[in-house]
Amino acid sequence: MAKVFILIKPDGVKRGLVGECVNRFENAGLKVVAMRMLKLSEAMADKLYPSDKQWLENLGMKAKESMNKIGKDIKDDNVSHGKKVRQWLMDYVLSSPVVAMVLDGNDAMTVARKLVGPTDGAAASAGTIRGDFSSDSIVTATSDGRANMNVLHVSSDEKETENQTKIFFD
Ligand code: GDP
Ligand code: MG
Repeated sequence: MAKVFILIKPDGVKRGLVGECVNRFENAGLKVVAMRMLKLSEAMADKLYPSDKQWLENLGMKAKESMNKIGKDIKDDNVSHGKKVRQWLMDYVLSSPVVAMVLDGNDAMTVARKLVGPTDGAAASAGTIRGDFSSDSIVTATSDGRANMNVLHVSSDEKETENQTKIFFD
């Protein structure tokens, strides 16, 4: 059995999608082993998203590639732009209450990421949570100077699961 950390972001909570998300995870055989609703503190939000150079570089690169595809060039280097996106992300998750949970099950992370879909709701397949409940995209969010609103966060490796679980649960 494996675990995965999930955070239903402010838009997901505000839109009343907590039950819908939990239902989809449970239907796929994942078990909720911890869950709490809270308003994040700045310190918690800061721990949630890494600030190492590699993570910022990847975040910046992903955004620049998306903007390049529509013929827009971001002048900042990857790390500088990554820092900007990280700040938008912090503002987003701090804006109103969130629901944190840990799911347990066979291949929990792979299964949860499949159910959630990719970062861009506009590109996510129908049937995934982001595909069904978000039409936002990196391009639109970047043009607006805010984070891509995509209902929830899912941890992406074992270390992330462990670190992020520790922020919310004993
Ligand atoms: P995820 O694993 O699919 O959630 O994506 P990441 O871990 O790469 O990014 C974390 C979150 O930051 C995403 O879920 C989005 O809310 C937001 N985000 C990521 N990349 C961008 C970007 O390039 N531009 C904007 N505006 N938001 C982004
Ligand atoms: Mg991620």
